[in-house]
Amino acid sequence: MQAQIRLGRIFGIEIGLHYSWLIIAVLIATSLAGHFSEAYPDWATTIIWTTAIMTALLFFAAIIVHELSHAAIARLRGLPVRSITLFALGGVAQIGKEAADAKTEFWMGIVGPLTSALIGALCLGIAWTLGWTFAGEPATPVTAMLVWLGYINFGLAIFNMVPGFPMDGGRVLRGVIWWITGNAAKATRAAAATGQVIAYGFIFLGIFRFFGGAGFSGLWIAFIGWFLLSAAHTSTAQAEVIETFRGVRVADLMTRDCTQVDGNTNLQTFVHEFLLRTGRRCFLVAEKGKFTGLITLNEVKEIPHARWPFTTVYDVMVPLERLRTVTPETPVAEALEILGRENIHQLPVVSNGHLEGMISRDQIMNQLLTRAELKM
Ligand SMILES: [Zn+2]
Repeated sequence: MQAQIRLGRIFGIEIGLHYSWLIIAVLIATSLAGHFSEAYPDWATTIIWTTAIMTALLFFAAIIVHELSHAAIARLRGLPVRSITLFALGGVAQIGKEAADAKTEFWMGIVGPLTSALIGALCLGIAWTLGWTFAGEPATPVTAMLVWLGYINFGLAIFNMVPGFPMDGGRVLRGVIWWITGNAAKATRAAAATGQVIAYGFIFLGIFRFFGGAGFSGLWIAFIGWFLLSAAHTSTAQAEVIETFRGVRVADLMTRDCTQVDGNTNLQTFVHEFLLRTGRRCFLVAEKGKFTGLITLNEVKEIPHARWPFTTVYDVMVPLERLRTVTPETPVAEALEILGRENIHQLPVVSNGHLEGMISRDQIMNQLLTRAELKM
């Protein structure tokens, strides 16, 4: 979910569009236009297209509201919410931490489908006050739009209640099992396993329908299944990392002997005496024994070779105040999450402005493998 268009902020939460969304937006608007022109042959082309585009936009607004409802519960429960992204298969709210208790998990999951159902009821309710009845076809562009939005939001509510990771229903299932058994790990495995079974169900159904002559819609179902499967794998892997490192702090894994370099060293010397000689990628910059910043291969790569002798480590280093740091008490799972989100390889461990050590992605991964082999 890296490449995206930023739309702005709502309640401090960044709203973005992934490029894959644009394709689906065009598909939905054109298929809606096709649907309207078939159902209402007397409508003018401009009315058909205006209604189709408005309906598609409101549909995506409803998805954003659905994601905002997840974000609101997360906020209420003290979990940080970073962003909401719309992509080809819907929306996703990026929540910085896992729920700490079963109740939070349950509410965070169920609020989404509830919100979609509420939006659906609201749309159908307004259409009804405008003269639409369940028996008849909607008569005006506005009621046609409201009725379509009403049904699609009910559809979303039901689809999201599918009880397996990564669907909202998976969270609900996990919350319930967690609450009954008191065992988060067990609940995660159950929600993940159900998610995988459902994903395979979608894939087989899609293939079956494709060979039964359903064409594109069959392939689409299979594609959704494939997406669910890979998302189920990802959420399972994440949950396993969190389980493995439950109670493990950064202080337990970090290296304390970090290689330091003087800030006045020029890059020519730095590359030959430090980077190439030690094989390390990252060095601490110190001034009179005090930690002032960090320099890595990446900063050096930015500078042309010819300028190396005239550029010092100070000139290109990332200063301490711009560095993302963790404390020795930070949980390892959280450190790993920061490394992934910021797309960096290592984090300085700092307490009270004093450098304690470094923790890197490789270190955490090696630990993960070792612990997995020892079945810890
Ligand atoms: Zn949801």
